Amino acid sequence: MKTIAAFLLLLAAIPAFAQSTADTIIARELQSPRAYETLSHLTDDIGARLTGSKGAALAVRWTTGQFREWGIPVSNEPVKVPHWVRGREEAHLVSAANQNIVLTAIGGSVATPPSGITADVIEVDSFDELKTLGTAKLRGRIVFYNNPMDMDLVRAHRAFEAYRIALRTPHTGALRYDPKQPKIPAAAMTAEDAMLLHRLLARGKRVRMHMLLTPKTLPDVDSANVIAEIRGSEKPEEIVLIGAHLDSWDLATGAIDDGSGVAMVMETMRLLKEMNVRPRRTIRAVLFMNEENGSRGALQYARDHGKEKHIAAIETDAGGAAPTGFTTTLKSESGPGTAALFRLPPHQRRHARQGGSEGAGPGYGRDRGAGLGPGGVAAASPRCRWRLRAASSASLRSRCLRAAARVVASS
Ligand SMILES: [Zn+2]
Repeated sequence: MKTIAAFLLLLAAIPAFAQSTADTIIARELQSPRAYETLSHLTDDIGARLTGSKGAALAVRWTTGQFREWGIPVSNEPVKVPHWVRGREEAHLVSAANQNIVLTAIGGSVATPPSGITADVIEVDSFDELKTLGTAKLRGRIVFYNNPMDMDLVRAHRAFEAYRIALRTPHTGALRYDPKQPKIPAAAMTAEDAMLLHRLLARGKRVRMHMLLTPKTLPDVDSANVIAEIRGSEKPEEIVLIGAHLDSWDLATGAIDDGSGVAMVMETMRLLKEMNVRPRRTIRAVLFMNEENGSRGALQYARDHGKEKHIAAIETDAGGAAPTGFTTTLKSESGPGTAALFRLPPHQRRHARQGGSEGAGPGYGRDRGAGLGPGGVAAASPRCRWRLRAASSASLRSRCLRAAARVVASS
């Protein structure tokens, strides 16, 4: 985690540096516990950092203070962010011995009525099935959208990818309501509970469930992106952006998503400063606010900085395990090729996977595919694929950056 960030990011920003510089950085970083200490503080002392929460505000203040303490110029750029709070979330079956069902509201969900909802459960496994059933069959029911985990991945010891979470813990996430449709409460069940429901329904049983959710959407609050910079010595107006998102969901402390990315970005900057490295281009670290439920920080960044000349935008938001490579949307014919561009060591070249994300949104995480540890994503949008070159400059048009910035701050 510690090494790859410094290695990749520095080489992207300072291509003129010899391999020995990279070696020095790697060696230096391997001696240092600082990245882990940063992550520990963010997760153990500050904790969950859901947008709009006290934890998110503390994280802005603390990371800003850290950059300042390290002697790196830093600023807070204001972002108006949504403020959704979770509330109570309870469910049980009223038809099968009152079995408890473990679920969690999906971020942004509206509440159930104060006394909850009790209704028959109907299972579907696709949106097509939902359409086929039609409104009449669905009205007044709890729709159980069953998206089973991939057992082949589980058997291949890749349960984390198959399910993401295990041991009867539900996984939250964000939803967006269609403004033309009524808002209905939405929750995610654990895999175990989903399998229970599926078995009961498959036996032809009537399944009734009671569900209570009390989330609230409060008025927007003021927050900030944290932006720190080491100015370039030769081309300070050209920017290599390294980013991660500072906010997290509230069910845990966001160590993987995206505390580890934040630690990597911060540590990269600290190390460059400590080593007194003067990059040719400006290296700008952006800790984006509100990636998880709105991407407002990324959009604000694009509005504020869209006209600046960005040479590369690299995101770290793929976890904190041993790095195995990164994804990119670059096409090999557009330059020296991904592996060459980042001068990956041979064992990582096979993971320099193309076909990464091309835009923020629900599909983004899936696009990144399996087996990838933390890494950078050189972002692009389908309409304005921008070409990232190792040394030569390339000015991004504002609309390209808007798309790119969304990607950078989206998991
Ligand atoms: Zn993320």
